[in-house]
Amino acid sequence: NGNGLRNRHVAVFAFPFASHPQLLLTLVRRLAAATPAVVFSFFSTERTNRALFTERGCDNILRYDVPDGLPEGYVLPGKIHEDINYFLAVAEKEFKRGVQVAEKDVGMTINCLVVDAFLWFSADLAEELKVPWVALWTAGACSLSTHIYTDLIREKYAELKGSAGVNDEIVDLIPGFTSIRLGDLPSGVILGDLDSPFATMPHRMGRTLTKATAVLINSFQELDPDLTKDLSSMCNNFLNIGPFNLVSSPSKDDEFSCITWLDNQKPGSVAYISFGTKFSPPPHELVALAEALEATKTPFLWSINEDSHRHFPLGFLETTTANGLGKFVPWAPQVRVLEHIAIGVFVTHSGWNSVLESIGAGVPMICRPFIGDQPINTWMVERVWGIGVRIEGGNFTKHGTCRALEQVLSANASSKGRKERVGALKDHAHKAVGPNGSSIQNFKTLVGVVTGATL
Ligand code: UDP
Repeated sequence: NGNGLRNRHVAVFAFPFASHPQLLLTLVRRLAAATPAVVFSFFSTERTNRALFTERGCDNILRYDVPDGLPEGYVLPGKIHEDINYFLAVAEKEFKRGVQVAEKDVGMTINCLVVDAFLWFSADLAEELKVPWVALWTAGACSLSTHIYTDLIREKYAELKGSAGVNDEIVDLIPGFTSIRLGDLPSGVILGDLDSPFATMPHRMGRTLTKATAVLINSFQELDPDLTKDLSSMCNNFLNIGPFNLVSSPSKDDEFSCITWLDNQKPGSVAYISFGTKFSPPPHELVALAEALEATKTPFLWSINEDSHRHFPLGFLETTTANGLGKFVPWAPQVRVLEHIAIGVFVTHSGWNSVLESIGAGVPMICRPFIGDQPINTWMVERVWGIGVRIEGGNFTKHGTCRALEQVLSANASSKGRKERVGALKDHAHKAVGPNGSSIQNFKTLVGVVTGATL
């Protein structure tokens, strides 16, 4: 089984929700290809592993299922976040037990832990095993920074909580940021219920990450030079190793013929609309967005589940499909769609992957953030990078959406500026993953950590 050639054993712990395990496995596949002498034991729940390990992968990645902690007979999806709480209640114990099984199977003790940063408690296990602890933060430097500085931010601004206008307060306290709107900080930093597990988890993570052997992010350092500099002073081996979507080749599937439809559209004319895998604007906002697309005659490709079609204005779907203005699909090959010359704007919820994919393709954005890191990503898009606009008032109205579409798709100077800036970032992103690029260099440093060559 080739084990004779193998000289190191790395345990990998996934946070088995949303796109987290997929991103971690993408990283591990890259690492496994670069280090054939290392065995990677990849731990996630049976449900996520089943979806992840569909094709034959690298010989040196072994799949291990850990229990999801759900009570017998529990029916998914259950209450919001309930499954996460059940999992977290057993995670530490189960990962630990899993490691013992894998050590026996492989015949080698663990030499390194590579984990999703949300699993901050695994730092203790690394310490116990006396091995490096490497954590992957799957979002941007901007949100990571606010979790690392949560104590500082709370100390300074907690007394503002609940006061009128606190959300619109612009502050300059956080190192690496020139300024930031308090209302755009991820929920749980100072706003929202600070005692909920979704505030305590990132808070404790932020405190623990400064002790990691390496902290990895799916980004490129030229995007956020100031934040990278500051986070490098806070963390050991703070390594931008993305964008992941530019390192792995995009899937060729185009089940719903998006690309063929785009081939018949004018360059830079189409609005691509998607709110990621978990979010959808409320019905009245879907109506406002639909009306704005029709009023401005903007061609559009809309990734939306069929169940939501019933919220559209009467006749909207039929008319716009028949006259060729729009195309509706339940799923789009997003990376390839964004790279298509016909795309002029991405109407997005500002999930980190979507933002990074838009930058990688040089497409300006109209942002309608919901929760989590989406508001701070939007702040960066609009105010720091200048490559998109936030929807007026924070949600879709017909008037605000018409304005945003006109602003971004017109040929005026500010629209050109946005396109130039996102084009420049696209070039940086591609260089970062090109020969001798910064993300490639950082990946080599990571390989050094994982193989024990550098510590
Ligand atoms: N995505 C896609 N096709 C779709 C909708 C989404 O490929 O029709 C992908 C998209 O490319 C991105 C991910 O789903 O990689 C969404 O991740 P993001 O972080 O933007 O949002 P989340 O779903 O985590 O809220």
